[in-house]
Amino acid sequence: MQVYEAPLRDMAFVLNELHADDGFGDLEALSEFTPDLTGAILEEAAKVAQEVLLPLNRSGDMEGCTLENGVVRTPKGFKEAYDMFREGGWCALASDPEWGGQGLPEAVNKLTEEMICSANLSFSLYPGLTHGATTAIEGYASDELKQAYLPKMVSGEWSGTMCLTEPHCGTDLGMLRTKAVPQDDGSYKLTGAKIFISAGEHDLTQNIVHLVLARMPDAPPGVKGISLFLVPKYLPKDDGTPGAANGVSVQAIEHKMGLKASATCQLNFEDSVGWLVGKPHKGMEAMFTMMNTERVSVGIQGLGVGEAAYQSAVWYAKDRVQGRSLSGVKNPAGPADPIIVHPDVRRMLMTMRAYNEGSRAIGAWVARALDAERHSTDPEVKARAQDFIALMTPVVKALFTDLGHEAAHLAVQVYGGHGYIAESGVEQFARDARIAMIYEGTNGIQALDLVGRKMPAHMGRYLRSFFHPVAAFVEANKEDADFGKMIEGLEKAFGALQLSTGTIAQKGMKDPEEAAAAATDYLRLIGLVAMGYTFAKAALIARGKLAEGAEDAAFYKAKITTARFFFDRLLPQATAAFLAIKSGKASMMELEADAF
Ligand SMILES: Cc1cc2nc3c(=O)[nH]c(=O)nc-3n(C[C@H](O)[C@H](O)[C@H](O)COP(=O)(O)OP(=O)(O)OC[C@H]3O[C@@H](n4cnc5c(N)ncnc54)[C@H](O)[C@@H]3O)c2cc1C
Repeated sequence: MQVYEAPLRDMAFVLNELHADDGFGDLEALSEFTPDLTGAILEEAAKVAQEVLLPLNRSGDMEGCTLENGVVRTPKGFKEAYDMFREGGWCALASDPEWGGQGLPEAVNKLTEEMICSANLSFSLYPGLTHGATTAIEGYASDELKQAYLPKMVSGEWSGTMCLTEPHCGTDLGMLRTKAVPQDDGSYKLTGAKIFISAGEHDLTQNIVHLVLARMPDAPPGVKGISLFLVPKYLPKDDGTPGAANGVSVQAIEHKMGLKASATCQLNFEDSVGWLVGKPHKGMEAMFTMMNTERVSVGIQGLGVGEAAYQSAVWYAKDRVQGRSLSGVKNPAGPADPIIVHPDVRRMLMTMRAYNEGSRAIGAWVARALDAERHSTDPEVKARAQDFIALMTPVVKALFTDLGHEAAHLAVQVYGGHGYIAESGVEQFARDARIAMIYEGTNGIQALDLVGRKMPAHMGRYLRSFFHPVAAFVEANKEDADFGKMIEGLEKAFGALQLSTGTIAQKGMKDPEEAAAAATDYLRLIGLVAMGYTFAKAALIARGKLAEGAEDAAFYKAKITTARFFFDRLLPQATAAFLAIKSGKASMMELEADAF
């Protein structure tokens, strides 16, 4: 059974308690968003997720999207749910009020995104991509385009897409072939084929605004010759309403492993009218604004599915009775004990729980930086926030989606054979979660971004935005009477991270393949240290609250236990990652291709 109740208590913890001293400060521009107000918003979001989106998750998966005569239909109930979602203002939460948005803090927005992804990952893509597209238009499009498109997209009346992938090029966008020919009136005519375009065509909105990467006739080869264009499905009339069709057609929809209620389309552009966004041949710069927004959001997708998988597994582990507890019968009235008594089932549940809470804590930290980047009036804070976001974006994307996928598979395991049967609902989580590790730049590419660009940037300046708070925390707390051992574990993992950074920098300078061979382990290592840091901080805060006699003692006690589990059972992965990094590329690269 798919079980989900928004984890509002933990969300309030990461939002209001955990990161109060992270150096990004209280932001005057967001002062109206008090804990009472944000709590009320999150409660309403929880209702939408639980009551509107969750009931459509399994039916949407079973029905999928259909294509008939060039028209894509989303599964039953999606249109009504989308209309309700849009009318409730949920499409516009974090957007700029100038365009009709509600200007909510990202720290709150990311938590609502998590709920939507937990309840219905397929649904989340429709408003999610639109929000990403608006960030690129806001940052790079002409005023005229902004006025014509942003209000409609922010309100959710029109949706957005990102059209990068072509049949012969996914990761290597330098090879893309879609053409954009300049016209006398300043517009362009685009011709080409794009594949795998999420929300490329559907029946939820009146118009769809495609952000398309293409090449002008005089473009230099490779990524330096790519420009970005805004291409609507219907050309707006003078009154702003959708007019003539613009030569964008759907060739097919993809039949996929999961995410079946999200329409993934093959699109053809035939002399479609488009307008340049940003400068000629600088399309990747503009598209990166959208991609970076989406990368953090895709990370949140991993967390969202991981949380729903965890809750569904907990429900089952309390309900299913098999065997007896090794420490004595727990359910004498029944024929067996619930499987939650068994250590191996506990291992799985605690792993999922720790990954989710750890990811949520890191996500909230990054979201605070996103708010500081946008709203801080202190240039130093703003710059530090930018460095931290740049560093953590690939970590959030790859770590959370790897762990979300692992959590989904653990949920299947907790259900045993029943987990493998579609009726249980949990195998859907495993199928849905899988794509988040691939799209928006595969997780391997995220790791290369981390070691190749982010690690060396400005002589390690991005890294310092993370290393400094961790080092200061370890120094201040390593003698702690209760948690000294925990902090010692963090110090060791942090030491391994610092050593690995030096090793990769040194070896990578001589041989870039060495850095590339270490990348995925390095990303995991930095993720584990970030998680260790946030768990240790959380444990100290929880202890303080318990000492003050906090009302919800059970929450704080459980937080300390989960932190202990993380340090005992999951942080040791840091040693494995360190040893793998240290071993270098030799055994990985030695075999000739034809020996495989
Ligand atoms: C359901 C779904 C939705 C999608 N939505 C969109 C969308 O909305 N818009 C859009 O434009 N695209 C979308 N995509 C495409 C997606 O972003 C790509 O599939 C992804 O970027 C990988 O590209 P590829 O599939 O061509 O794999 P390839 O680029 O062929 O990569 C294959 C493998 O090789 C590895 N690899 C490739 N190059 C390197 C390298 N230099 N170093 C190390 N490893 C490398 C990759 O990590 C991967 O493991 C979607 C895909 C799917 C399946």
